[in-house]
Amino acid sequence: MQRYTIVCKQDSTSQMISKQLRDAFDSLMTYDEMNPEMVISVGGDGTMLYSVHMYKHMLDSVAFVGLHTGTLGFLTDYQKEEIEQFINDVYHKDYTIYNRYLLNVTTNKETYLALNELRIENNMRSQVLDVYIDDEFLETFRGNGLCVCTSSGSTAYNKSLGGAVICGDNGLMQLSEIAGIHHNAYRSLGSSLILDKSHQIHFESQNFENSVLGIDHLVYDLKDVNCIDVKISNQCARFVQLKHVSMIERLKRAFL
Ligand code: NAP
Ligand code: MN
Repeated sequence: MQRYTIVCKQDSTSQMISKQLRDAFDSLMTYDEMNPEMVISVGGDGTMLYSVHMYKHMLDSVAFVGLHTGTLGFLTDYQKEEIEQFINDVYHKDYTIYNRYLLNVTTNKETYLALNELRIENNMRSQVLDVYIDDEFLETFRGNGLCVCTSSGSTAYNKSLGGAVICGDNGLMQLSEIAGIHHNAYRSLGSSLILDKSHQIHFESQNFENSVLGIDHLVYDLKDVNCIDVKISNQCARFVQLKHVSMIERLKRAFL
């Protein structure tokens, strides 16, 4: 790769590491924020989300790699203690590119891409909405909201909702409830539903007032929105594979 850039979390450790990377790579590649081929994300998984959104207009030509300045993340492969190895690997190692699937989220107003998930969240009152899978009515949901995550996002918000962790990325999406109401009068599936990329989810409501649409770290209002469509996008985020860290290792380091 000829052109690179660094997206850095605004803490002193990340900034120091970012400076070391600049010193190491400026003789190898050109620093180009506008048109990079490689984006190095220095920070946490949150920084990687930010990086992908920052370059979402050029996903076909850019590839991401992450150096984590906290404990090892799910979207990053190197830890800050491995900076020398990272520099060495960029200089000398053959790399491959792997894809992370994204969600395509369309409302009657806008289209969004999500790496982790979309959330429909209402903290003011019960959100009532109809859920369709491939145009077939599934349920009327009542509760705080719903979350649809990718494989990449399965270890984030989805996990806190009791959703499953998905190993591997074959274009799966997982629908999970946020505090659903389940009793004799109102009932929805309750468990998470995992769908492959051949499926589409359609949400419809007379009233999304007071709900917000969360897309990864971003939040949008749902004013004048009455339906939301979700599918696996045909655009992927490309990631540089220089070092292999197994999902089991990541799970153990993060959670066990
Ligand atoms: P944030 O503070 O940047 O992130 C919240 C935490 O989620 C951080 O510890 C972050 O890790 C971690 N995270 C992000 N993506 C992850 C992934 N794919 N797998 C495992 N952990 C991941 O919060 P934010 O900017 O509002 O939201 C960004 C993301 O945070 C959202 O997409 C959502 O999934 C997640 N989040 C989770 C919860 C929850 O679990 N209850 C609540 C809010 C947000 P780093 O520390 O490495 O950045
Ligand atoms: Mn964060």
